[in-house]
This record gives sequence, structure tokens and C-alpha cells, in this order.
Amino acid sequence: MRGGHDLELVHVTKRYAGGAVAVADVSHLFRAGSYVCLLGPSGCGKSSTLRMIAGHEAITEGSILLSGKDVSALPPAQRGTAMMFQSYALFPHLSVAENVAFSLKMKGVDKAARMRRAGEMLELVDMTALAARLPAQLSGGQQQRVALARALITDPQVLLLDEPLSALDPFLRIRMRAELKRLQRELGISFIHVTHGQDEALALADEIVVMNSARIEQAGSARDVFNAPQTEFVARFMGGHNVLALPQGRFAIRADAVRLAAQGAEAVVTSVEFQGAHVALTARAAGDQDILALIPEEQFFADPKSPGDAVRLAWDEGRLHRLSA
Ligand code: ADP
Ligand code: MG
Repeated sequence: MRGGHDLELVHVTKRYAGGAVAVADVSHLFRAGSYVCLLGPSGCGKSSTLRMIAGHEAITEGSILLSGKDVSALPPAQRGTAMMFQSYALFPHLSVAENVAFSLKMKGVDKAARMRRAGEMLELVDMTALAARLPAQLSGGQQQRVALARALITDPQVLLLDEPLSALDPFLRIRMRAELKRLQRELGISFIHVTHGQDEALALADEIVVMNSARIEQAGSARDVFNAPQTEFVARFMGGHNVLALPQGRFAIRADAVRLAAQGAEAVVTSVEFQGAHVALTARAAGDQDILALIPEEQFFADPKSPGDAVRLAWDEGRLHRLSA
């Protein structure tokens, strides 16, 4: 239902007591049914933005609309949003099923109905077999599934997730990533997922919103943001790019679009790193510009280079993206 449950931030500002501006005049439309990642370095205002959407933090200026209705003044439970916290915040003395059913108990839903609904939610996250356990008897990944079920039982239109994968080991993180994506598709609701990891955002997001210093730096599809960063900050933060100062201005170019060639910019190799499918070769060119080239490993080892070697670097002009800042 396009437009049905769009979430819109309209000139939203958050100023904490003491004067720090955590979110500065941010406007953005989060489309219904999309997986959006809010991406940016620590301290850029991601959690503040999420907490304002959830209603856990007051908005200093601006408003938040869900389905066109201003929800800025509503308490969290009445907004149509639900938040999954980084720490999961499960009640230690309640069973898994009781944790999941908790918010329905608060709403006065009778026991049979809320336990039935909790059962459905546990099935959704594949935790039916562990319904009677206490949180302390679960692994980190299992606790996270319970936290998800608990957030989803309120039937939110928008699920808010603040660094949901950061406590997991790398293997589990990738598995849970796929789970989150599957859940979002199955439920058809919007997920707004805060992360400081660009690989996580690329893997999950229909749309990436890059934040920097309390503002939105760039928003777009994962491919657009990665392939065509508009600012030096985005190019550097997404990684895998070079920022080149050329006579015509500043440009970004993907590191895998830079190759060793017979003709091209002169440079001296400064480091060589084997990365599996690619070799990351860094070379210093005129003006002390360090340029990173990701070279397919077979190609590299056909004519390997070492630090100190003189090389020439080339790229297609069409791969350069002009930076606006
Ligand atoms: P992120 O989630 O991107 O790391 P936050 O939204 O947590 O960023 O923080 C943004 C800025 O607001 C930071 O400078 C942080 O120190 C400040 N901040 C966050 N919460 C509070 C608070 N409760 N009181 C005062 N300053 C805060
Ligand atoms: Mg945060």
C-alpha cells in the first residue's frame, strides 16, 4: 500500500540540555514497506533520530508524520512504531513467551489471547521450542529473536532497530542480517535500522540514509550511494573509493575501477595487501595522493608488484564522479 504508512520527518531538530545539537533540521520521507538503514559514524545523531521517531525522546523543533498524521506528541505505544533496543532489555524473571506477551498484558488483553499471539510471534522468529525458557538460558542470537518478537507483537507499521546486530559475533551477524531482511519482506512493514557499518547497510537496505554531524549527507538506493557518492565524506565513509583532486575539481572513483596499465598516472607502490578475491594495492601519485586499486588476484599475480615499484595507474573517465563537497 504505497503511501499508506509513509513516515516523514519534517525539519526535525534535537537540542539536548546543555546545547548540543544532535539532529539539525532533518527532513526525510521513509517510504512504506521499505528497509532503510540510517548509516553514519558514532555521534552523528542516528540514535537520537530513532528515539524521536519512537517517542522516547522529545523533539525540539519540527514534526514526525506517520501516514500523514502528526504523531510528534503521542506516547510511544500509540504511534504505530516499535523499537528493538540494542541491549534487548528482556525481563530476566519472565519466560520467553511472557516477555513477548508483556505489552499485550499491559494493554489488558486476556491471557489466552496474548499467549496465543506470543506463540505466533515466536513461530515467526523460529523460537517456539524455547518459549518456556528464561532469558539467561538463551544465547545472544536467541535473545535477539525474542526481542524482535516482543517488538513485533504490537503490530507496528514501522519497526525501529538501533544497532541490532552489534552484540553478535560476525558469523551470527550475517545470519541474523538475512533473518531481518526475510522478516521485513514477510511482514511488509518498514524497518528503520541504525548502523555504523557500511557493509551491513549495503547488505540490507532498500534505501541508505547517510548521516554526518547531525545532518543527512546523502540518501538513495544502496547501489546509488555506493556507486555515486556526492560528497567526500560519503565516498570515504562507504569505503572502496578514492577521492582525487584533479584540475577540474574533486572526484570519487571506485578502487576496483583503478587498474595497473602501460599508460597512466605515475605512482610508487606503498603497500600491497592480499584480500582473497582482490589484492589491495596502494600507490603514491603526484601531489602525495595515495590511490587505492583493487586488482583481481589472478591479474595481480600474473605480474606482481612490491612496495617501492614504479607503476602507472589508469581508469575510465566515465567512472569518475564529481563531488559537491
Ligand atoms: P549516534 O547514535 O549516531 O552515535 P547519538 O544520537 O547517540 O549519535 O548522539 C548524537 C549527539 O548527541 C552526540 O554528540 C551525543 O553525545 C549527544 N547526546 C546523545 N544523547 C544525549 C543526551 N541524552 N544528552 C546530551 N547529549 C546527548
Ligand atoms: Mg547510537
